[in-house]
Amino acid sequence: MSEAQNHPDDELEFIDDEPEAESGGDATNRKVWRVLIVDDDPDVHHTTLLAMRNQTILHRQIQFLHTYSALQTRELLLHERDIAVILLDVVMENEDAGLRLVKTIREDLSMPETRIILRTGQPGYAPEIDAIRDYDINDYKTKSELTRNKLYTTLTAAIRSYEQIRTINAGRRGLDMIVRASADLMQRHGVRNFAAGVITQIAGLLGLAPEGLVCAHDTSGGINLGSNDVTVIAAAGRYADLINRPVDSISDAQVRQALERCLQSQRNLYDGPGTTLFFHNRHGDVAAYLDTRESLDDIDRRLLEVFCVNIAVGFDNAALFSRLNSFAYFDQLSRLPNRAHFIQHIDRLLAAPDHGKQILALVDLDHFAETNDALGHRFGDRLLQEVASRLKQSVSPRVIVARISGDTFGLLGASDDLSPTQLMGLFNTPFTVDGQELMVSITCGVLNLADAGNSGAEALKDANIALKRAKQGNRGEVNYFTREMSIEIQERVKLLQALRHAFDNERLFMVYQPQVNLVTRKAIGLEALIRWRDDDGKMVPPDRFIPLAEHSGLIVNIGEWITRVACHQQARLARAGYGHLRMAINVSVSQFRHPRFPFMLKRAIEDSGCDPACIELEITESMAMVEADFLLHTLDKLKESGITVAVDDFGTGFSSLSYLQRLNVDRLKIDRAFVKEITDSGRGSRIPEMVIQLSHKLGLEVIAEGVEDLAQADALEKLGCHEAQGYYFGRPMEPGPLMDWLSNQAV
Ligand code: C2E
Ligand code: CA
Ligand code: CA
Repeated sequence: MSEAQNHPDDELEFIDDEPEAESGGDATNRKVWRVLIVDDDPDVHHTTLLAMRNQTILHRQIQFLHTYSALQTRELLLHERDIAVILLDVVMENEDAGLRLVKTIREDLSMPETRIILRTGQPGYAPEIDAIRDYDINDYKTKSELTRNKLYTTLTAAIRSYEQIRTINAGRRGLDMIVRASADLMQRHGVRNFAAGVITQIAGLLGLAPEGLVCAHDTSGGINLGSNDVTVIAAAGRYADLINRPVDSISDAQVRQALERCLQSQRNLYDGPGTTLFFHNRHGDVAAYLDTRESLDDIDRRLLEVFCVNIAVGFDNAALFSRLNSFAYFDQLSRLPNRAHFIQHIDRLLAAPDHGKQILALVDLDHFAETNDALGHRFGDRLLQEVASRLKQSVSPRVIVARISGDTFGLLGASDDLSPTQLMGLFNTPFTVDGQELMVSITCGVLNLADAGNSGAEALKDANIALKRAKQGNRGEVNYFTREMSIEIQERVKLLQALRHAFDNERLFMVYQPQVNLVTRKAIGLEALIRWRDDDGKMVPPDRFIPLAEHSGLIVNIGEWITRVACHQQARLARAGYGHLRMAINVSVSQFRHPRFPFMLKRAIEDSGCDPACIELEITESMAMVEADFLLHTLDKLKESGITVAVDDFGTGFSSLSYLQRLNVDRLKIDRAFVKEITDSGRGSRIPEMVIQLSHKLGLEVIAEGVEDLAQADALEKLGCHEAQGYYFGRPMEPGPLMDWLSNQAV
């Protein structure tokens, strides 16, 4: 080290055994710079120490470490990584031991940040320029250059460079972690889940255990602006118990105040007992608190700022997701799970091994549509809310209550918790809506999950079948689903398909049943009745398939076909000399409702060239279900063309007299059920008698159907009924036999 001692501007002193007071200090202590001297010459160690004695660089002291060979250095570096600069002798054990050590430090020990200054005794002995570049060597100095000043400036430059590299790398690593943390967080759906992820990720970023909590304005759905209460929505570590609790209830005053201050100032706070981060959010601000023991350094703070900005967007998304989820799975009016969610619950139960003891009940409010019409939709909505909350509050919390559709609620639970009779009982007391008391009765369809298929949707469908059954039969009661019900439904579906097929393939045909004058017993008209002979040649009764056609809407097309065929038949009969015969055509409600119906009828009449005065439409009393104004208007319009209208099956429906009067019909057709009772006794004639008298008073014609014997015919005639139809006079016949029947009669 002689060169160094002789340097003119040097005041190097030699000191013996400079105590290595600072070595062995806290390795992670960043308040010093750690510099490693590697040299096989102990003098170099000494001179360096002396030169740098009491010096500070960039406001920190220097702590020296010493090794004397490449081997020893490698061993030291295996566990001492936090080293800013290595002053490295090139020639030690052999000529390039130092250079090889550089390679080891960079490649094998992966220490890219530590700065390396090569020193050599011989000025001529410079390493390859390649080595300097490839191994990121900071500086190359001959030992003679290591005067106090030179050493100081060289070390300062290296340390500054080390600090910059470290900052950049830490930032890059942090950013990388943020990117990964964000990606992880974006996978999380729902605000709470997201918030829990935020704690873990921040802790991960800072290399700490996750001890912290996240709070936001009440988050029942998304983040809700409506409430002023700030609630803990996620918590980890020693704060875990605080989840779902209001922030006020946090007993640690410092934590509580930090969170409150953070939300108020809308800034990150690093001065409390930990770190408090603020996330600005469209759906309500969020604050997160983390235990960080000592206050964070600059790099960490800047990283967290980036993280917060990045993550605030994530909170927005999570809140949005929560809200979408709430829209998708919750009924917004009642706040109950909706149909889709209910089906998920059933699916879950069905997947469980012991679902046999569970029941699914559908509760349907009777006559809700009427209530809605009469008292308004707002009232209807309130009523539904009242029903929802009574159901929810009265049943066991283990029972799932959902709103399935308009006025149908679904309940799902163990049979011990959920009794249909008890459900019915809930409706024994009136509901109060807008200060108005209202009794509501319900009908209940029940399915034992033991009888359910394997999907929630199917189970719900089956419970619905039971409910519909109950509605048709006995409103206000409970009806249990049975397997037969679903079999029946399946058969109906099959039958409908077959009907479509039959209609398309012209397997339907019309028959005509005579109507006679009871006095002359001569034919005055015919009723057109449809027939279906299936592929096996069996007749399918219209009572079975007409209701199906009505339900499916197929009746509109079939009805048009019937009308056209019947009108043509009337025209054909007229050409055969039976022009006086009336042709009665049955019309269903759904056909009648169709806006094109009057137009269709007019065209059928015109196309066939039949006499409109001979066309009679048979409508049923269920027409009363059609809105009165529409019905009156349509009937008037139809009658303008000269056709007549009869009320079929009279006496079985609900028509009121005044309604009948307004309806402008021509004829009442006494239902065959009453005709059947006529001969039994005087009592059996009471209804036909009343109907006949009524029709006379209203100026209507009357016809009796289902007359099967002479006694009935005579009795009806005596009661003043002028017309009749029935097997006694003639069966429904196809056009050929009908012509024979008519010509026989004429004889
Ligand atoms: P509906 O309109 O009351 O038709 C009268 C039913 O009574 C016919 O049954 C007829 O065959 C039957 N009938 C006639 N005389 C007697 C009798 O003396 N005794 C007994 N027990 N029954 C008698 P059908 O043809 O089976 O029709 C049943 C129902 O199907 C009809 O009742 C009607 O509601 C519907 N329907 C039949 N054809 C048509 C149609 O072309 N269009 C529409 N929309 N419905 C039809
Ligand atoms: Ca009829
Ligand atoms: Ca009838």
